Amino acid sequence: MLGQMMSQPLLISSMVAHAGKFHSDRDIISVETDGSVTKTNWQNVEKRARLLASALGKLGLKAGDRAATIAWNNHRHLEIYFGVSGAEYICHTINPRLIPEQIAYIINHAEDQILFIDKTFLPIAVGLKDHLKTVKNIVLMGARDEEALTALPNILFYEDLIADGDDSYEWPSFDENAASSLCYTSGTTGHPKGVLYSHRSTMLHSFCVVAPDSLSLSAIDNVLPVVPMFHVNAWGLPYAAAMTGAQLTLPGPGLDGVSLKNLINNYGVTLAAGVPTLWQGLLIALRETGEKLKTLDRTIIGGAACPLSLIIAFEDDYNVNIIHAWGMTETSPLGSVNRPLTKHLNQTDTETDQMAVKQGRPPFGIDLRICDDEGQVLPNDTKAQGELQVRGLWVVEGYFKAETETLNADGWFPTGDVANLDNDGFMQITDRAKDVIKSGGEWISSIDLENLAIGHEDILDAAVIGAKHEKWGERPLLLAVKAEGSELTEDELLAIYPNKVAKWWIPDRVIFVTELPHGGTGKLLKNKLRDAYENVLLD
Ligand code: ADP
Repeated sequence: MLGQMMSQPLLISSMVAHAGKFHSDRDIISVETDGSVTKTNWQNVEKRARLLASALGKLGLKAGDRAATIAWNNHRHLEIYFGVSGAEYICHTINPRLIPEQIAYIINHAEDQILFIDKTFLPIAVGLKDHLKTVKNIVLMGARDEEALTALPNILFYEDLIADGDDSYEWPSFDENAASSLCYTSGTTGHPKGVLYSHRSTMLHSFCVVAPDSLSLSAIDNVLPVVPMFHVNAWGLPYAAAMTGAQLTLPGPGLDGVSLKNLINNYGVTLAAGVPTLWQGLLIALRETGEKLKTLDRTIIGGAACPLSLIIAFEDDYNVNIIHAWGMTETSPLGSVNRPLTKHLNQTDTETDQMAVKQGRPPFGIDLRICDDEGQVLPNDTKAQGELQVRGLWVVEGYFKAETETLNADGWFPTGDVANLDNDGFMQITDRAKDVIKSGGEWISSIDLENLAIGHEDILDAAVIGAKHEKWGERPLLLAVKAEGSELTEDELLAIYPNKVAKWWIPDRVIFVTELPHGGTGKLLKNKLRDAYENVLLD
């Protein structure tokens, strides 16, 4: 027997329609490419998203066509998110930090029909244009601009498209399983792979993002997604903000500590989200000026393990609650969030610290397990560690246009992360599988060692890799970047480890370097470090 309730498809357009209707005057603050600040609101965003949707139809886009963006977090990018997906086109966000060959590969693989760019990325578009096989129009996200016309004579202008749009356009209704957006994983090895989200998965993920045990978003929040809109849909925050009618403060290109501090304090941000390195930058800026964060209540940190020192600094010195979360492009991204259970409320400080560095527990909609090399499921006892596998309502099933299987035989997605789980599902990532250090047959967590090193006040960045060793197979090698003027020695740095990690985990050697290689999404490129340093303990 069927239930007798309305059946409405779960469509992204309904989120912005809700915000435009019931949170019409809620501000959207947007930093433009030139640093100026624009103030708009959800009503305008919804209206302009519809105008854009209708204009794209006039340009010849058909349902299912891909429209790409190379853009910062700003109000036009937000309108594109809703206008493109709302009209049944697919919003393909591209990471501008990828090398040009990869960007060209991604655009051609996705068969993008149209490319939206912020002015900052005009040189990228100029360099790419002869290599793009399917793109019919490049659109500058702004008003008519002579410099852009000179560089690309056929370029279109976003504000002309909006002016040409049809205000009577109404959001179409279609199958909630239709694709809504496309995001390629960074692909440190091999070609990037496309994850194709659906309206349904995006909506279910958004319901999860706003829930109290995850990011707890509400209409009175003012959200600063520092995480780029080209990085897993800014962790779903644009959708979650529309769903709740929260204010959005979009930082544009200004992601340095001083810009973030000013944006938070000038516009009353309550909730921010981004990778650990950004918050390190913010801390430095705060310490230099002695300023506090007047309105910031909590910050979501994910994308890389969050060092305990960062969590403690924000909580103790700035009264900001750090919410540690884990996810990946393939999981939309929310896979786990570190939110306490009743039993954790009266813990000792040491227990609280031990909990804080964990990546958290799966929210409803996500299931996690760990497996050994033979695929046997391991116990949730915090001691066993194995490959983390995930399944759920917003987890990838197959990569876009890929021929090989994405899931394993029993339908779980193998993440390539190595983790342990406790009985309540609290998960701690110890490594990427390919970065694991195997010393005498036992695993050493490079993440633990790195986070302790970064906790040293003289250390700006750190990486630990497995270097080849005659007796042990591999031993940990610490590569560290010192603060300017620091005279820290190898022995002084290694003195942080005794009593914090097992003796045999302590790195055999420290090499001080001037910088460490990071990839397009800010992650350490350990394969490069291994190439350069893996033999140093043999010599
Ligand atoms: P994102 O960086 O937004 O999470 P990516 O798909 O680029 O998405 O990267 C996913 C990978 O990043 C994960 O598989 C994991 O290795 C790493 N990662 C994400 N969050 C964390 C975290 N909180 N702690 C440790 N590693 C993390």
